[in-house]
Amino acid sequence: MNSNIKPNLTDQVLLEKVVEAANTGIVITDNLLPDNPIIYCNPAFERLSGYSREEIIGHNCRFLQNQDRKQESRKTVREAIARGESCMVEFRNYNKSGELFYNELYLSAVKDDKGCVTNFIGIQNDITDRRKAEQALQLYYNETDRKVVERTRMLKENEEYLSSIVETIRESLLVMDKDYHILSANSHFLNTFKVSISETKGKMLYELGNGQWDIPELRKMMLEILPTNNPVLDYEVEHEFPHIGKKLMLLNAHRIELEGQFKDRILLAIEDITERKAIEQRKDDFLSIASHELKTPLTTVLGYVQMMQRLMPETVSDKFRSVVDKTGVYVDRLNQLLAELLDVSRIQTGNLELHMESFDFDKMVIDTIDGLKAATPGYNIILKGKVEAVFNGDEMHLVQVLTNLISNAIKYSPESHEVEVYVSKVSNFVKVSVKDKGMGIKEGELKKIFERFYRVGEIQKRYPGMGIGLYICDQIVKNHGGTLWAESKIGEGSVFSFTLPIKDYTGEASNG
Ligand code: ADP
Repeated sequence: MNSNIKPNLTDQVLLEKVVEAANTGIVITDNLLPDNPIIYCNPAFERLSGYSREEIIGHNCRFLQNQDRKQESRKTVREAIARGESCMVEFRNYNKSGELFYNELYLSAVKDDKGCVTNFIGIQNDITDRRKAEQALQLYYNETDRKVVERTRMLKENEEYLSSIVETIRESLLVMDKDYHILSANSHFLNTFKVSISETKGKMLYELGNGQWDIPELRKMMLEILPTNNPVLDYEVEHEFPHIGKKLMLLNAHRIELEGQFKDRILLAIEDITERKAIEQRKDDFLSIASHELKTPLTTVLGYVQMMQRLMPETVSDKFRSVVDKTGVYVDRLNQLLAELLDVSRIQTGNLELHMESFDFDKMVIDTIDGLKAATPGYNIILKGKVEAVFNGDEMHLVQVLTNLISNAIKYSPESHEVEVYVSKVSNFVKVSVKDKGMGIKEGELKKIFERFYRVGEIQKRYPGMGIGLYICDQIVKNHGGTLWAESKIGEGSVFSFTLPIKDYTGEASNG
């Protein structure tokens, strides 16, 4: 016995003290008495149940279950008592105030010398907090399970949704890993190239078919997609493909990233543009033939009109003279339109020839503006700045560019009567800007207006034109090694500018 324990206490009294002091509820029942009543309970059990000793002694333990009698644990306890065995169960018990508490009961049978069960000792632990935590955890698990199921369903739906889009798209699509191995191909790809999925999936892009995509330039662009995120845009491949013959394909490739996942994947979209290009070619051919066919009779008409003006007797009426002059103006206009159409078809076939000669740039600008001032008397065309350089280029075509830009500035500024032209030398370039305070152009249209036959939608009906002036200007400027661009604000006006490199007589760019 420990020296701290008072020597006058017997072991039995000591044990009683321990039981009394314990924090765990303890009850003892007498199994030899009818209905196995409680004959002892410690203070912890009183605290646990809320009942006092007086209210507890003599009762069977079941009084703690109130009306909640259909508990599986009760059967376990009954059977254990009947067999005289120990057991451990959990009960839903109710304290004196009727509040539920979960009770973990360890029931231990006490036997006499003959092996007859005389008593049961019940060790009772309130496990309400633990059960609540378990229940909360279970709820959390259930909720998590539900969310996982829901999320899986959504992912599946999204996947089905995406794959139905991918399958509907009338473009061939390939998804590749970072080493250009095909991870998936849509049906359109398989149908277009007449190949099976097994011939495609897992293969490297450059091994497909008869090596149609194994093009050094394409390889180089594809190499840059992942590290730089620079896509391959509108790259044309003309090739004799297996099964389908010679085709023209348009390739676009992008890095794909989905919420941080799959960032090392590449999506390659392949469009068969053979038919479209053939139709475009037929239109170009028609344009070229039609404008050439019209040119000859028109030149003849122009010649006759000029002859009429020359041979007209002094005595003709003013009315007659005016009719002939107007005919001349409209035939001129027609001739000019036809010349523009011919320019377009020359550009298409790469036959727009430039005749490079040295000329005084400032004089060219002044003469062009003077000509336009005479033709549009109500307008103020203000010239600012000068180049002061002899320029080597195609003067006639540059006059055409400037005329076109100023004419557009006048045409698309119905409310304003002023156009400013700025000319300057910037490093070894000449720079010309034509500024108007007209209707302006939407941001999204600024690049498109330089395309062939493109006109901004809403102005189509109000202003005459064919939408080829800027296209021709752009090509002329490009053929001089320069750039043409537009800046604009809708409702405020536009500035069209171009720069041209000043070249020396050998055609080399000069150092200014
Ligand atoms: P066109 O004038 O015959 O339509 P262009 O190629 O010269 O053909 O111009 C293409 C389009 O660009 C025009 O239809 C017009 O919508 C727009 N545009 C050109 N210049 C201007 C300008 N100064 N202000 C506003 N819009 C312009």
